Amino acid sequence: MIIQIDPNIREIDFNNLTEKIKGLHYTSSRVSTQFGEYVIGVGKKPFDIRSIGTMPGILDIHRVSDAYKLVSKKWKVNDTIIDLGEGVRLGTGHFAMMAGPCSIESEEQVASTIKHLVGQGIRIMRGGVYKPRSSPYSFRGLGPDGLKMWYEQAREAGVRIITEVMMTEQIEGMYDYVDIFQVGARNSQNFNLLDALGKVDKPVLLKRGMSGTINELLQSAEYIFSNGNEIIMLCERGISTYESAYRNTMDVNAIAMLKEKTHLPVIADPSHGIGLRSYVPQIALAGVMAGADGVILEVHERPEKAFSDAQQTLSYQEAANLYQGLKKAYDLRESLM
Ligand code: PEP
Ligand code: MN
Repeated sequence: MIIQIDPNIREIDFNNLTEKIKGLHYTSSRVSTQFGEYVIGVGKKPFDIRSIGTMPGILDIHRVSDAYKLVSKKWKVNDTIIDLGEGVRLGTGHFAMMAGPCSIESEEQVASTIKHLVGQGIRIMRGGVYKPRSSPYSFRGLGPDGLKMWYEQAREAGVRIITEVMMTEQIEGMYDYVDIFQVGARNSQNFNLLDALGKVDKPVLLKRGMSGTINELLQSAEYIFSNGNEIIMLCERGISTYESAYRNTMDVNAIAMLKEKTHLPVIADPSHGIGLRSYVPQIALAGVMAGADGVILEVHERPEKAFSDAQQTLSYQEAANLYQGLKKAYDLRESLM
C-alpha cells in the first residue's frame, strides 16, 4: 500500500497512522521524494483502505496490486518533467538530445566534443568513465580523474553530464560531478545499486536490460522511486534477440508502450539499439516517431578511432545532419498525434 501524506502532517496524526499500519501487521517506511511525502506499507492482510484514507493528514492511498505502481500512470497522471537547470528540461513537451563518445578518452577529445555540441545547441553530453566491457583487457575508462577533467570543461560551457555508475560505492565520489546518473543495461536489475540511487537527489537514466522485459524495466524504476528519487528516465537501448545481423534489436514497440504505461520520460538509444553506424539515423528517427522524449547518441571526432563502440559511433557531420532530422521528426510527430 502507498499512502501519500501531507508534507505538513501533524506528529500526532503521523504517529496514529504508523500505529494503525502496525496493527494490520504491515511494515511501514516513510519516503520523501522531490515531489511528495509517502508512507509505503508492506503486508498481506486484506483490509478496507478507506479506514486509512479518511485519517487526518492523508492525501491519497493506493493498494499495490501490481508489481509497480509509483512509476505508472495509475499513480500520477501528469508526465514527469526533469529540470536540469538553466532551461535544460526533459520529458513530454521538452524534446532533449544527448550526445558524446562512448568513453571519455582525453582532454582534447572532451574539448572537441563540447565544441561540437555547443555549436549544435545540445546541452547534455554523454560519456563513460567507468566502462562495462565484455573483455577485461578492453579500455575500461579514465575513472574519477577523467570525470573531474570532463566536469571542469563541461561546467565552463554550461553543458550537463550524463555518465554511467556501475557500483553503489562509486556514487558518492561521482555525485558532485554528475548531472544524470546512467544505469547501464548490465546493471538494470542490480537492485542494491537501484536502492542506492533512490536515495540520491539527482536524475537517473535507467537502461533496459539486454534481455529485460518492459515489466522488469518498470519494476527496476520502482526500486529507485520507492526509495525516494522520482527523477528517473527510462531508456530503450535494444535487446538481445535471435537476430545476429546487428548488435541488438531496437524495440521501438517498447517506446510506444512505455509512454502509455509510465509518466516518466522515455529516451531512445539507437547507437546501442542497432550497433551499426550506417543505420543509427534511421533507428533514431523511428525512436522519435514511436514517442521518445529524447535521443542519446554516440559521436566522436574520428569515430573509427574511438576507444569503444567505434562501429556504432557517428562523426560530427553525420550527427549534425541527424540532429536536424530528429527535430523535424519530433515536430511532425507532435503535429500527427
Ligand atoms: C553505454 O552507454 O556506452 C553503454 C555501455 O550502454 P549499455 O549499458 O546500454 O550497453
Ligand atoms: Mn557505448
